[in-house]
Amino acid sequence: MLRRIALAAVCVAILTSAAVVGRDLRAAEVNRPIYYVQTREKVMALTFDLSWGTKMLGLVLPILEQAHQPATFFVSGPYARTHPEEMKAIMDAGMELASHGAAHVNFSGLGAAGVEANVRTANADLSPWARGPLDLLRPPNGDWNPASVAAARAAGYQTIIWSIDSLDWMNPGVSTIVSRVTKQAFPGAIILMHASDTCKQTNLALPPILTDLKAQGYRLVTLGELMKMGPAMRDDPRGSGQKPNMG
Ligand SMILES: [Zn+2]
Repeated sequence: MLRRIALAAVCVAILTSAAVVGRDLRAAEVNRPIYYVQTREKVMALTFDLSWGTKMLGLVLPILEQAHQPATFFVSGPYARTHPEEMKAIMDAGMELASHGAAHVNFSGLGAAGVEANVRTANADLSPWARGPLDLLRPPNGDWNPASVAAARAAGYQTIIWSIDSLDWMNPGVSTIVSRVTKQAFPGAIILMHASDTCKQTNLALPPILTDLKAQGYRLVTLGELMKMGPAMRDDPRGSGQKPNMG
């Protein structure tokens, strides 16, 4: 009898600790950002960050429009507030709107309350332009920590990084930008480009990127579309030749 009670107590203890560990793991997992979507279809999301300038946007938008190519624009709140013409052009071109935060600073240094305030401030500036509720956030500089991911979620946003950095913001040369994107392509990837005026070569790299990826059999969609195609993945597939988990 005593042995049975002892055994039952041990079982309860094991089950309880397993449940606790499971809960911790899920919390740790959910407080990481999204890097790609798990799918076997040859589909990727095309995304642009935009926080200043009008020149590169004015060159990139017509290319996308002519190619009937939708993309997701992560726009910073202050930009949306001060550039109504550009915002109208982005939305008229059928692009998807997402948030690039308010002040362009590293979220890992803001603390939970600071991140939440940043995200909510940007939301107020972006919402009037959006077709529906906004819920996709790319933190400035792709910087995050578990607290910033949790704080963004509290403000209604999922934190999105990327799988493929075009490096267009470094102006490394058109062929480098093109090959970085086309050689790292994989189903479910999120491609990072920029429409800010820091970039001088994005408009030249974009047409050959679109042509090459199409020839590889890829279809480019907005991030919102991609996220309907499979589970959002929070392991970082970048660097060291690491293969993403394609399921
Ligand atoms: Zn940025």
